[in-house]
Amino acid sequence: MEPDEWKAATDLTLLRKKLLAWYRQNARDLPWRRTRDPYHIWISEIMLQQTTVATVRGYFERFLDRFPSIEDLASAPEEAVLHLWQGLGYYRRARHLHRAAQIIVRDFGGQFPTDPDEIRGLPGLGRYTANAIACFALNHRLPIIEANTRRLWTRLTAATGNPAKPPLATSLWQLAQDVLPKREFADFNQGAMDLGSMICTPKSPECDKCPLAPFCIAHQTGTETQFPQLAPRRAFVDVEHVTVLLWDKEKNQLLVTQRPDDGPWAGLWEFPRVEKRDEEDHLSAATRAVKSFTLQEFQTRSAVMTLRHGIMHFKVTLTCYEAELLRSTPSKATVPSGIRWVSPKDLPTLPFSSPQRRIIARLLKHPVPERRSRAKSRRDSRSQDVT
Ligand code: SF4
Repeated sequence: MEPDEWKAATDLTLLRKKLLAWYRQNARDLPWRRTRDPYHIWISEIMLQQTTVATVRGYFERFLDRFPSIEDLASAPEEAVLHLWQGLGYYRRARHLHRAAQIIVRDFGGQFPTDPDEIRGLPGLGRYTANAIACFALNHRLPIIEANTRRLWTRLTAATGNPAKPPLATSLWQLAQDVLPKREFADFNQGAMDLGSMICTPKSPECDKCPLAPFCIAHQTGTETQFPQLAPRRAFVDVEHVTVLLWDKEKNQLLVTQRPDDGPWAGLWEFPRVEKRDEEDHLSAATRAVKSFTLQEFQTRSAVMTLRHGIMHFKVTLTCYEAELLRSTPSKATVPSGIRWVSPKDLPTLPFSSPQRRIIARLLKHPVPERRSRAKSRRDSRSQDVT
């Protein structure tokens, strides 16, 4: 059914009453709901994009402890912001937050803007996030459409078509605006999100507990899980990456490199890493990874661990090699920007992606001298000089 037709046939006053009553009984107690501070709500909304509430709780509190005000966030080095974001993924969000904080300090005197259009003009703020901040913190009567409410409204209306794209996306935003009560609109929006998240779940909606079941076309026709009609997800692609722990033995340091400003893990640090080409073996890929960051002579040793992780639509098998400089880096040598030599114990002070932090965790589990002697005995029996 078209959202407009459904709206005309529905008792919206009763629907609002039922949803608000359900929300009063069932609202989740979340740290960012105990405040009207737009800075706090902004941080929570950005963290909640692509991330579960359970994961966000701890990050949210740590982030505000470290950056209690917009000024604190704006004046922090980007590396410190990324460091706190480690493990949340989608690091572009953290960089946008940082940039937006600097804009707020520069253009708005450190006060979060109150005009929804100005909020939406900040980096990283789309229509949903801007409306959420404007509604929950600043009392603007604006609609919310995100994954949970999109699922809820498409099931209620049994609207066909892709709800992420016009024309259905446009109709759903309009519907979400039209159903808002004159008062308590923030609770209504929160209630719709909670109902979508807790009851109208993607695979097994609990319609017998749903206060909106009498209004729901999908429920009445037994077609709940046929909505929303999203485009199929891209299929996963298997890829192999090789990363290298390049040791400067004399200084007990490892080479780390900073990811460029765009692309996955932008601004984070990692051990030299490449995607393995079909025509090369792992050892050659490991050597290529190191050669792209140093002109010094080195020896690639053996693989020390393999782990698997996902990023976007890629399933990555990451093989970690060890390599050694044949001569230590001269103390006065200039190290190019984007490259650092770091002792193992200092690695946790830099922001790394989750898979790289798993390597560091394993590395730090074993005291270095012990790890070295094991590496030495492996070398004696299995080394292969590919320099
Ligand atoms: S009745 Fe079922 S499908 Fe319809 S909104 Fe409620 S939970 Fe979702």
